[in-house]
Amino acid sequence: MSENTPSIFDLTSRVAVVTGGNRGIGLGMARGLARAGATISIWSRDETKNAEAVAEIEALGVRASSVRCDVSSESSVVDACAQTVEQFGRIDIGIANAGFGTYSDPIGMSLEQWRRVLSTNLDGSFLTFREIAKHMIERGGGGKLIAVSSMVESFGAPKQPHYAASKGAVGAMVRSYAVELARHDIQVNSIRPGWIATEVLDPIVHDEKASKALLSRTPARRFGTPEDLEGIAVYLASDASRFHTGDSILVDGGYTIF
Ligand code: NDP
Repeated sequence: MSENTPSIFDLTSRVAVVTGGNRGIGLGMARGLARAGATISIWSRDETKNAEAVAEIEALGVRASSVRCDVSSESSVVDACAQTVEQFGRIDIGIANAGFGTYSDPIGMSLEQWRRVLSTNLDGSFLTFREIAKHMIERGGGGKLIAVSSMVESFGAPKQPHYAASKGAVGAMVRSYAVELARHDIQVNSIRPGWIATEVLDPIVHDEKASKALLSRTPARRFGTPEDLEGIAVYLASDASRFHTGDSILVDGGYTIF
């Protein structure tokens, strides 16, 4: 390919929103999109971490900003979408990545514990998709919506029925939006990461017994890193995936098939 041939992975002039983009997997994907040329808007709650992430992304030579946003709040997501469109003129790529899990006894779990996880992981992904899709349809010209689900979509997760339910529902939501939005040239997919060494996984990564047990079941024999999610994010955000929709893609070092 000649130097002048435009790459199908080029994201120059595209604007990408990454919820939960101030650290971990979200920041890893944001870095990947930025390296492909995208302008980045980070939607997360911690303003100090937001500012640090924006500085890191800007150092890669692209425009970036952040909005203080709680994705479980409808008004917060509506405002974040309006602010981003006001600032950058458009949104081409929306990544619903913000999420968390807790380990709780499934029998003793309160409804409040259940709902807290669902409201960020599921309601937050829905609100992010809904607001960004509305904008994309109004402006025309298509777009990309990507959710970060989990491999727990497809197997039992001890002490995490709320987390597994939220991610299973996100997968179903993605397929439904994919069907609905295809006519607007909007591709909708999800990524199912395996065990990725971010802050939330620290207790497992630093527990010799637990990490040995997990890695012996992982063909790649290592934990994933946020950098391992860069490539799939760029692919799903770019023209390279223009006929690829409604899918759920594992990035797990082979854990699920072993
Ligand atoms: P981190 O805890 O490192 O990052 C979570 C991010 O989500 C932070 O940026 C946090 O920012 C943001 N966030 C959390 N709640 C909210 C909220 N209510 N509104 C806005 N932002 C929020 O987690 P990971 O990077 O590990 O996880 C990212 C995604 O990947 C999650 O959806 C998780 O379920 C999924 N995942 C992770 C795996 C792993 O092994 N690490 C495996 C499979 C899936 P702030 O607190 O500032 O709002």
